[in-house]
Amino acid sequence: ESGLYVVATPIGNLGDISARAVEVLAAADLVAAEDTRHSLRLLQHFNISTPLQAYHDHSDPRALRRVTDCLAGGGAVALVSDAGTPLISDPGYRLVREVQQQGYAVRPVPGACAAIAALSASGLPTDRFLFEGFLPAKAGARSSRLQALAGATATLVFYEAPHRVAATLAAMVSCFGPDREALLARELTKTFETLRRAPLAELAGFVAADPNQQRGEIVLVVAGCREQQAAISPEVGQLLQRLAQELP
Ligand code: SAM
Repeated sequence: ESGLYVVATPIGNLGDISARAVEVLAAADLVAAEDTRHSLRLLQHFNISTPLQAYHDHSDPRALRRVTDCLAGGGAVALVSDAGTPLISDPGYRLVREVQQQGYAVRPVPGACAAIAALSASGLPTDRFLFEGFLPAKAGARSSRLQALAGATATLVFYEAPHRVAATLAAMVSCFGPDREALLARELTKTFETLRRAPLAELAGFVAADPNQQRGEIVLVVAGCREQQAAISPEVGQLLQRLAQELP
């Protein structure tokens, strides 16, 4: 059926692709991919020979036109990113908007998403969560963002680059306090999959002490602020935290 299919692909273990995703990729007239070389390997693995076209949100308008031309001709286009669900810290937003605006159908083909996978196995509350994606890379901007989140009561979910995870955990200890529970979810569904839940200070120590924990792909899940603490303004909260540290 004609339309744009937003297709989730595995985040590591190829067994996590859905039967429907394979069908849709094989039946599509065109696969719009974040990185065609990367997605070619995935398609080859499943013996799919659908033509690939590079697409990211800053692509040349011609890439977008090739997609809309295909849809105009009654074709089906599958959008994929390198891993997991497109548009979740990945390209596709502009394409989905444009295709909708032009009146074509957009349909999801759901599957793996690192944030949801980490959350589902975190043992932290999942009734309300806030997906924050990647924090700013610079220390100052990162601390400001964390400070702004310090009073949030929902569980927080972050993506983080391996070379920044130690610094980010240290910044979380100062902004959220040492005792907040958090989960490090590393290399999910892959050979060196690691899930470790501990209070922030302990988790920061664990990561700082072991360079192996500073490799691969990482999701951090952090418990929200407890309700009583959230009722206090961030400035007063910080003051109380500092006072508590001074007390014997
Ligand atoms: N769209 C993807 C999704 O649905 O999860 C996320 C793409 S984003 C560019 C890549 C980030 O997702 C990585 O830096 C890491 O934080 C997280 N990630 C992806 N795969 C992962 C895995 N297997 N284990 C842990 N984190 C992963």
